[in-house]
Amino acid sequence: MAKICLCLTGKTLAQNLEVLDKYRKYADMVELRVDCLEADERFVIRRFPEQAGLPVILTIRRRIDGGHFNSGEGARVSILSRGLAFAETDRRRNFAYVDLEEDLEVPGLEEAVRTFGTRIIRSFHDLKGITNVTQRLKAMCRVGDEIVKAAVTPQNMEDVFTLYRAVRRECYGMEKIVLCMGPLGVNTRILAEHMGSCFTYASPLEENYPIAAPGQLDPKDLVENYRFREITAATRIYAVVGYPLKTTFSPRIFNTAFSHEKIDAVYAPFPADNLNTFLSLARELNITGISITIPHKEKIIPHLRKASGAVASSGACNTIRWDGQGWEGINTDARGFSESLLGFMGKKNFRGLKITVLGAGGAARAVVSEIRRLKGKCLILNRNAVRARDLALVHGCKWGELDSQSLDTMERYSDIIVQTTPVGTFPHVDRDPFEPYHFKGHEMVMDLIYNPERTAFLARAQEAGCEVLNGLDMLIRQAKYQYRYFLGRDFPDEIMPRISETPGN
Ligand code: NAP
Repeated sequence: MAKICLCLTGKTLAQNLEVLDKYRKYADMVELRVDCLEADERFVIRRFPEQAGLPVILTIRRRIDGGHFNSGEGARVSILSRGLAFAETDRRRNFAYVDLEEDLEVPGLEEAVRTFGTRIIRSFHDLKGITNVTQRLKAMCRVGDEIVKAAVTPQNMEDVFTLYRAVRRECYGMEKIVLCMGPLGVNTRILAEHMGSCFTYASPLEENYPIAAPGQLDPKDLVENYRFREITAATRIYAVVGYPLKTTFSPRIFNTAFSHEKIDAVYAPFPADNLNTFLSLARELNITGISITIPHKEKIIPHLRKASGAVASSGACNTIRWDGQGWEGINTDARGFSESLLGFMGKKNFRGLKITVLGAGGAARAVVSEIRRLKGKCLILNRNAVRARDLALVHGCKWGELDSQSLDTMERYSDIIVQTTPVGTFPHVDRDPFEPYHFKGHEMVMDLIYNPERTAFLARAQEAGCEVLNGLDMLIRQAKYQYRYFLGRDFPDEIMPRISETPGN
């Protein structure tokens, strides 16, 4: 099973040991990044494996490979030699691994470390792309007892797909580590087993403690949120796809349910600029259930073999599953929205209520169609007025631009205000989607954003005396429908209190 390697990037060995103690239960091994240490600390690393009490990789990463070491190869080999010298027969006191780049030839050192059981990780790093990964990995396998490693940087979903497919087909059975750096590669770190990697690297997300490489996850997140230690190559994958997909709470909902129900499955994020290519990757990885989010909710529809009534009426689809021959889709945002808001208000429908919806994107489509289905009257205001008009025409609503000229109409449609734009979400939490509107206090205000818990828009509404509701309850409700659609069984409601704790960033 793939191991979690905690990357230690502190300036001193003492700082690293402190961090290790905090994260010990989430780590199977550690990587001592000597290039991050202060100069005088680099010469006293020999005892670190014994102090750490876990297998340690000795790594001195050069600047050109994304590290910090810039003192030349002679100095690097000299520090490596000091770290590996005086090997002991008790191997736990030696470095368990040493990371040597593809182009570093130090036969004497390599021979010596092998004698004492230190394993060589032969690595290459590509900070700009994914060129020739499988060929390079095969060429690097010149000595049978080495582990080969490729850390590369995909530029788009096409690169991620190409890499998964090539590595799974051409490097099967090879003892290796292959990972994609940067935000596009987050799933390669979670699905190390599906990539055939023997380790995944993780960095503690601590203030003033540098992350070792872009895209690394916190080890606690890997273990507790993604259940990394239970994932095998046979674990079924469910996915959320969007772009840029910076923060999403859905993995926590699904993975907590999988854990509670003892289902061998993992729900992982797939940032994807290209939906077509992602769907090919989904077939490659046998992903059978997918949550669709910004900006793909409308673009997914032409890919569906079958679509529900809610998809047809809203023109947006947020949930798809593979039926053996093609993709079929539903929209769970619609029910999630109406059940959350009506439940909060203690009402059965929107009859007699005049409602303003801010935004005309994928989420607004579900919101508007649900308001109309449940007899409410609706005004749609959007930055792009044409989009507001197009949506309004489908559902028989009023529409306008999201500017001060719409204020009079909005005041007449102010029983409920539903904010569906991403404005105010983390990290730009100070932003307000419609500052010119002054709340009177009688409005019921719902913001679909749940991160932060209270947006600037909701805070303003609450200060004016309005009842307010964020999007977390809607998210959970719609995810429960997705769960049933994907797995054919009910969501375990008893885990709700655990999930409903405020999501972190
Ligand atoms: P989308 O399809 O990309 O639509 C975004 C909408 O917001 C568009 O109408 C867009 O206007 C508008 N917008 C974007 N940036 C803006 C800005 N700077 N100023 C004014 N308007 C702006 O996204 P979506 O799928 O509808 O999702 C929107 C939000 O709802 C996201 O924050 C998402 O996380 C949240 N959401 C929550 C739930 C839940 O369960 N709680 C479910 C779905 C969505 P233009 O047309 O002018 O570009």
